Amino acid sequence: MDDFDNNEKLEISDEILNKPRLSTNKSDINFEQTLAEEEEEITEDKEEIYYDLLNKVYDQIDIEKELFSNKSINICKPIAKYENRKTTWENFDKNFVQINRDHEHLKKFVDKELGIKSSVNSKQNLIMRGKFDSKDICELLTKYIKNYVQCPTCRTINTSIIRNESRMDYLSCNNKKCDTQKVVQKV
Ligand SMILES: [Zn+2]
Repeated sequence: MDDFDNNEKLEISDEILNKPRLSTNKSDINFEQTLAEEEEEITEDKEEIYYDLLNKVYDQIDIEKELFSNKSINICKPIAKYENRKTTWENFDKNFVQINRDHEHLKKFVDKELGIKSSVNSKQNLIMRGKFDSKDICELLTKYIKNYVQCPTCRTINTSIIRNESRMDYLSCNNKKCDTQKVVQKV
């Protein structure tokens, strides 16, 4: 009887001994799966970067279309005239009124982007040293609107720039249903 008991105990302990081995195998499989998943994630990351780039290109085209061909937004395409090594942004005054921004802010942005020192004449045209065509100015204004005017959520241009107590600038959406606020870089 004693012998039988021992045998049975042995059998049980064998079973117990086998268990951890099984679970080790399982975790090996899990590890491989994790590796495969990680590789997949890396590929997805690369794809994401590619689509991000692609989206940026489409974004630019879409935003330009949206801004300058949409009657409800109503922004005129910038008009540039080159003469005597200087470019005049002829409807600069109209443009900053249409986007409801201070002309000094827009001028500062243009200077920073182009690395120049522009000036505003008596007709409120922006005079820039160098040759720029309407397309260049259009891209510049689009970039400005994207960063400092258009709400990233509802896409309205009915927004304001607000400076808080810690002197941070915020783009604040005036659409009450949206009410988005985003931090904007100082020009
Ligand atoms: Zn909004």
